[in-house]
Amino acid sequence: MTAPTAGTSSQVLHGVGVGRGGVVGPVAHARQAPVVAPDARVLVDGVPADAATTRATLEAAFTGVAADLQSQSDRATGTIRDVLAATAQMAADRAWRGQVLTRVEAGEPPVAAIDAVVATFAAMFEQAGGYLAERVTDLRSVRDRVVARALSLPDPGVPELLVPSVVVARDLAPADTAALDLDHVLAIVTELGGPTGHTAIIAGQLGLPCLVRVTGVTDLPEGVEVAVDASAGTVTTWPDEALRAEIARRATAERALAEDVAAGGTADGHAVALLANIGTAADAERIATGAVEGVGLFRTEVLFLDRAAAPTESEQAQVYAQALRALGGRKVVVRTLDAGADKPLGFATQPDEENPALGVRGYRLVRTHPELLDTQLAALARAQRDTGVAPWVMAPMIATPGEARAFATAARTHGIATVGVMVEVPAAALRAREILAEVDFVSLGTNDLAQYTMATDRLRGELADLLDPWQPAVLDLVAATARAGVEVGKPVGICGESASDPLMALVLTGLGVTSLSMAGAAVPAVRHALRRHTLAVCRQMADAALASGSAVEARRAAADLLDPQVRDLLRL
Ligand code: PEP
Ligand code: MG
Repeated sequence: MTAPTAGTSSQVLHGVGVGRGGVVGPVAHARQAPVVAPDARVLVDGVPADAATTRATLEAAFTGVAADLQSQSDRATGTIRDVLAATAQMAADRAWRGQVLTRVEAGEPPVAAIDAVVATFAAMFEQAGGYLAERVTDLRSVRDRVVARALSLPDPGVPELLVPSVVVARDLAPADTAALDLDHVLAIVTELGGPTGHTAIIAGQLGLPCLVRVTGVTDLPEGVEVAVDASAGTVTTWPDEALRAEIARRATAERALAEDVAAGGTADGHAVALLANIGTAADAERIATGAVEGVGLFRTEVLFLDRAAAPTESEQAQVYAQALRALGGRKVVVRTLDAGADKPLGFATQPDEENPALGVRGYRLVRTHPELLDTQLAALARAQRDTGVAPWVMAPMIATPGEARAFATAARTHGIATVGVMVEVPAAALRAREILAEVDFVSLGTNDLAQYTMATDRLRGELADLLDPWQPAVLDLVAATARAGVEVGKPVGICGESASDPLMALVLTGLGVTSLSMAGAAVPAVRHALRRHTLAVCRQMADAALASGSAVEARRAAADLLDPQVRDLLRL
């Protein structure tokens, strides 16, 4: 692909960036789903097959797709492994396979039968919302693979790439994302999908810049040169020399930042621990090689999702022990099961709640399924005994000091020495002092704290301005919690997404938080920003943000106090 010629008009498309990276490269479109008529038939020697052969072909297609996905999963690690295993399970699922086969036996053409059943399941998932709504992409990708295989068409997905390319798709199935040839993929850009979807999560884990919700991107011609800027959320066709140079300069700067492995702290030596968020023991092994001081949030619910029953005590203990060993004695904060709302569990959460985010979720599950917490605490205690490493253990969605006390009592009874709770409900932030009297530490979950403070569903992209952690009301609650921690001398960490914004990290430090936990890839930029500002400047930024009238003003007020070199390097 050649550089732009004078007069080539550039087009800028906008989307939601995941991560901070930027790249320049040619567009390679993923192969679309097979285009077939709903009455297409399975053919044998060019002749439509009878019902029995069609049934057997379809059954083999389902089994083959499930087996392929499972073997891809077996070769993968971490979140990718789990996502692929979940998609394989979906392909093997007896319920929808059975419904398809029954329809085919009754004489319905196979594609029409599959599409009818997929439509029913997709509607069910979408209605459930949250995590399940995002599984609709997985369901459709299984459909496309089964249809292609049954009709002997090429598999949908990313074609073999001959040169490093920007992969563009309407929506990329997790199986396609996980199977990408990393030597030839520069970035992923999709028209659909959300920043918390599987594709975005996997792209983050693979360290690929990713943009989702980019309207019109699938209309770009194959091979057209584009600049993808995840931090600006833009795709620019025919980038000029200035933009290419800027992206190259930033890539070099980000690489240099990642070489710094010092502990987190301000310019004048005020320590702020920089920790990583993980979802699996394999994630722990992966981040253990990087320069993080430990894990600030182990989301254990990943182990419980897509299961018919909770994992046993010994199965859980093995996973927790693996994570503790991987970190080799570094701090690991394990969060007990946070199911419900956007993470429903078939065997525990209630399917008929009208407002699941306000329902029996997180720690509240102890009311309906006390055995889940009991087994998990026993498993954590067993992992502690087996490894000789003591995890910090915290509960999600605590609303009252009474809940904090009950959780602390249960955890200590099991032999957990350092017990904490998350502050992600405004009531807990307002009563942080009383809550801290019951536990050893708290960790602010700003994703949910913003959702509940602003009464804004965290999954609704169109309300992002309200959900913004820079909203002064959210900052007030963070400040109140941090102040309580300083007063009683107990740690107050942050493990919501806001910690990965270097400017917000400075404000949080100024407010008095003692640790910042984020996606591992976000740590270098946060470390750099901290190192270039004194605690006094962080406090000034915090004061300026708190005195602001809106989220936009709060961010601007803090940014006005930034070191200009840091502002330029990190584009803050
Ligand atoms: C949060 O709410 O900020 C948090 C860290 O928890 P989760 O995103 O898993 O709900
Ligand atoms: Mg939360």
